[in-house]
Amino acid sequence: MRYRLLHTDGGARAGVIQTGRGEIPTPIFMPVGTQGAVKAIEPRALRDLGASIILGNTYHLYLRPGTALIERAGGLHRFINWTAPLLTDSGGYQVFSLSDLRGIHKDGVEFKSHLDGSLHNFTPEKVVDIQRSLGSDIMMVLDECAPFPCTEEYAHASNAMTLQWAERCKERMEATAPAYGVEQALFGIVQGSIFPAIREHSARRLAEIGFDGYAIGGLSVGEPTEQMYAMVDVCVPVLPREKPRYLMGVGTPENILEAIGRGIDMFDCVMPTRNARNAVVFTAHGRLNLRNAKHAEDFSPVDPDCLCYGCRNFTRAYLRHLFKAGEILALQLATLHNLTFYLWLVRTARQAIQEGRFAIWKSELLKQMRS
Ligand SMILES: [Zn+2]
Repeated sequence: MRYRLLHTDGGARAGVIQTGRGEIPTPIFMPVGTQGAVKAIEPRALRDLGASIILGNTYHLYLRPGTALIERAGGLHRFINWTAPLLTDSGGYQVFSLSDLRGIHKDGVEFKSHLDGSLHNFTPEKVVDIQRSLGSDIMMVLDECAPFPCTEEYAHASNAMTLQWAERCKERMEATAPAYGVEQALFGIVQGSIFPAIREHSARRLAEIGFDGYAIGGLSVGEPTEQMYAMVDVCVPVLPREKPRYLMGVGTPENILEAIGRGIDMFDCVMPTRNARNAVVFTAHGRLNLRNAKHAEDFSPVDPDCLCYGCRNFTRAYLRHLFKAGEILALQLATLHNLTFYLWLVRTARQAIQEGRFAIWKSELLKQMRS
């Protein structure tokens, strides 16, 4: 995997990540396909709207349908018919947030499945092995996402363990080969809660170990937004300039623009897809709730500036009717629109960076969204 930095504009960067399955222009937003599907949208439609990489989740796919089945299917790409790059989260976050956690120790974590209560364990080596079996283009190290809030002592001890796990993940990757002949990259994850010194140490140590890219994890977990930006500002200068930087689980359109301005290249979030299923759509003029009565006889499109199939062909009144009637088409059209908007946002940001007008474009768009 190679990252080429093409342009900088203030702190913002435009680049390209080259993988064995194609190029990813950055900054990029990665739609979330937790269980091997981005909810309410076909892979074909995702490609048509320009998604160059999607996410899968190791914890979910390991539990169901199981790693062995995906191996027999020829890997996750073949199983879900996605030929472009895929990133898999290590599952650390889900072990701590979803499963019934039974124990955490220097060798890994023990947990009970949220599906059937069965007992499992993840070690740093095992999550690399699972991601080898899945065949993801970008694998993530096992980490502990410390709960928020937590004490500095907790964050320190947790981060020390996460750094050891990161080192073991890298050793495992170097000792094993891709299962399907396509090169796989490994990203480290900076932790440290809201403590600048721990974040800085984490970023520094991960850079020493050396990864193909660096994620900043454990943010957008309930801390004030300004604190999230402050942590990004602590990590970015320490991370290698010639590698991609990924802010995990973030966020709103505003968060993404601010983080791009601070030097982040990659984002993922369930926000566009989950909000779509709750009738909330994003536009360059702010958010709308399509269930609101004011849209009942509004025969304009969701977003007149959007070129998605939904906005070109259907009205707010019709989408509101579909949501009220519980029609599946409502979820599909709103999902298609929100992902179109998020991908438009990062593509337009990239263009503005290349033309040296990112800061002006960003502040004008934010002003427009807030009005
Ligand atoms: Zn649209």
